[in-house]
Amino acid sequence: MQAQSETAAKDAGIILEKVRELAADFAGERRERQQRRELVQADFDRLRDTGFLLTAVPVDHGGCWESFEQSNRAICEMLRALAHGDSSVSLVASMHPAVLQYTGWLTLPEAPDPYREAWDEQRRWAFQMAKDGRQWGTIMSEPGSGGDTSKTKATARPSGQDGGYLLDGEKHFGSGSGITSYVITVAVPDGEEEADLFFMDMQGVPWDGSTGVKLAAAWDGCGMTATQSHAMTFKDFPVTRSAWPGAIQKRPNAGGGGACMFAAIVVGIVETAIGTARQQLQRKRDSMLAYEQTEWARVEIEGWLIQQAYEGMLRAVEQASTGNRETRLGKAAVAELAESVMLRICKVVGGGSYSRHSPYGFWLEDVRALGFLRPPWGLAFDQIFQGSLDASE
Ligand SMILES: Cc1cc2nc3c(=O)[nH]c(=O)nc-3n(C[C@H](O)[C@H](O)[C@H](O)COP(=O)(O)OP(=O)(O)OC[C@H]3O[C@@H](n4cnc5c(N)ncnc54)[C@H](O)[C@@H]3O)c2cc1C
Repeated sequence: MQAQSETAAKDAGIILEKVRELAADFAGERRERQQRRELVQADFDRLRDTGFLLTAVPVDHGGCWESFEQSNRAICEMLRALAHGDSSVSLVASMHPAVLQYTGWLTLPEAPDPYREAWDEQRRWAFQMAKDGRQWGTIMSEPGSGGDTSKTKATARPSGQDGGYLLDGEKHFGSGSGITSYVITVAVPDGEEEADLFFMDMQGVPWDGSTGVKLAAAWDGCGMTATQSHAMTFKDFPVTRSAWPGAIQKRPNAGGGGACMFAAIVVGIVETAIGTARQQLQRKRDSMLAYEQTEWARVEIEGWLIQQAYEGMLRAVEQASTGNRETRLGKAAVAELAESVMLRICKVVGGGSYSRHSPYGFWLEDVRALGFLRPPWGLAFDQIFQGSLDASE
């Protein structure tokens, strides 16, 4: 067991090094990348070649995932590194491990009878797909749901094939559309009350409605501009149900991994922005006005707080403490501070930061994504408020 754990840690360390090298290449193309509005397959081929997709495959299935407690930091560090080079690629990449955690396939190794065998088989298959280089993604969000998957209006009715259903509904924010091979979603199964988890094979599927998927709106984000987080309409589209119905309610760390991964991306963006600005400010160091000096001092303070919040989130997961509450608090804190830091940097750097030739305006919009990512602002604050009163009982 000990030997297996060391190998996994070593493998994750090797992947991290390769991801860092890839991110450095991406950083060299920053100006062109920040102008992109589309994903480039070659980036994801290179990411796959680093071994990144194995972060969502358990050690005993040939990957480097050990457990939520042991593997979360390594995955987050890879995403943080990737964000030093390209925000959109990092966000799309994060969905792969986040999704395989969300389904419960990584964190719930055994299902109770009568789902045991089918669950085992489905997990094996999902991990094999990741090992074969197939990237996973998610299109759970629905207009009007406010990020709350229990409010889904999408429906799924049995197709007559084993585990097969036909999906109807409007979905949006499908990051990585066109790059991801398999995508998860939520829908209310026919005759049931609660939403459950489904996944679909999107490989080679046209988006013209001819086979049940229609591009409703191409992604036009102000930030994370090249994530292809498209909106799609599904009509009788074949999907497969989770082999353990209701497993998503049973996950021990619902959402904590996603919160850490999304925060890690923004931490990566912020530290790159601070580093870039610090270098740029050397030139006007002696002519900085009092306001600029004060704002820059605040950048330092808030940048430090962001690092503490991020570290606190990772440690809460590692110590298997009240992980969900702490990761929720940390994500909200990083989201607020990151927006604040980026605004201050823009003011100190000066009017040039408002130009599309400068990286800061792009980073400012990119970090704004964190507050909207699951759980989005309203839902996050609701949960924090409720959790606070529960904690005082
Ligand atoms: C960059 C980025 C990437 C994301 N990637 C993913 C992803 O890969 N997968 C995923 O599942 N989610 C993804 N999300 C979505 C995220 O997880 C939240 O679900 C989403 O941001 C919630 O948005 P909201 O709170 O505004 O609520 P929503 O209710 O989802 O509203 C979002 C938008 O829909 C409009 N709207 C509201 N009500 C209606 C209605 N009744 N009819 C029509 N339109 C309406 C709103 O005006 C608003 O513009 C991503 C978000 C961002 C910002």
